[in-house]
Amino acid sequence: MNGALLNDKFFFKEHPKGNLTQQKNKCAGCKKPIHQGWFSSPAYCRYSGKYFCLSCHKNNKFIIPARIIKFWDFTYYPISEFYYHFLKDMYYEPLFNIAILNPGLFNTLPNLMKIKTLRQKLIFMKDFILTCRDKDVLLAVLGNRFYVIDTDTDFFALADLVEIYKHKFLSWLRNVCEVWVKHILDCELCKAKGSYCGFCKSPEIIYPWNLRVTTQCSRCKSIAHRSCYNAEKCPKCIRIQERKAISRLTKSKQSHSLDSFPKKL
Ligand SMILES: [Zn+2]
Ligand SMILES: [Zn+2]
Ligand SMILES: [Zn+2]
Ligand SMILES: [Zn+2]
Repeated sequence: MNGALLNDKFFFKEHPKGNLTQQKNKCAGCKKPIHQGWFSSPAYCRYSGKYFCLSCHKNNKFIIPARIIKFWDFTYYPISEFYYHFLKDMYYEPLFNIAILNPGLFNTLPNLMKIKTLRQKLIFMKDFILTCRDKDVLLAVLGNRFYVIDTDTDFFALADLVEIYKHKFLSWLRNVCEVWVKHILDCELCKAKGSYCGFCKSPEIIYPWNLRVTTQCSRCKSIAHRSCYNAEKCPKCIRIQERKAISRLTKSKQSHSLDSFPKKL
């Protein structure tokens, strides 16, 4: 495949409608001469903005990334064979960073924020699931969407955007969340990987995905009750700092004692 066709700008951009003269009356695919005639008219590809011969454009239709990102338009437009197969091939690739391509969608589509939060929860659960002996069964719930827990929560595949449009994606994510939470709370192995709040020292086990109740320290990554957490007084961060201070002190003592050792002439 032509590398230039795959670059971001081409992929996400809407291409203005060209004309046959600009193409020197040649098919944009195979370069055979094409003419606007009484009985034959070259086929227009909405994705590339170019004209094609009828061997290179069989009137297949597909959704167009730029139309979706800009206008949330999921209309199927006629496109050339090359781009038809190209778009079908990348249908399940998480290439769309919505936060960069069109952050306004987060305002117009309230479900997007909910989807982001659910994905964050799943990412927290990932550490439990991946080390469980039931890992394979649990990951199977994701189908071919492992990237949902393996990429930034702003990345989506074309397939996801279609499911969001059809109001199916959120309920799918909710189901994965439910299955995983239920497993973790029922599984002795997973349950044991929960944390205790280092602030209040309560014996209650807490879990990082329970975002309403818990929070994660941005520096040491430990989990604490949201109501207890204070970044300045995080017990784990303090322990880490103390350990560093002690090791610095020991090192400086060692180098000091080496310095004071009489040097041989
Ligand atoms: Zn052609
Ligand atoms: Zn488990
Ligand atoms: Zn607490
Ligand atoms: Zn901390």
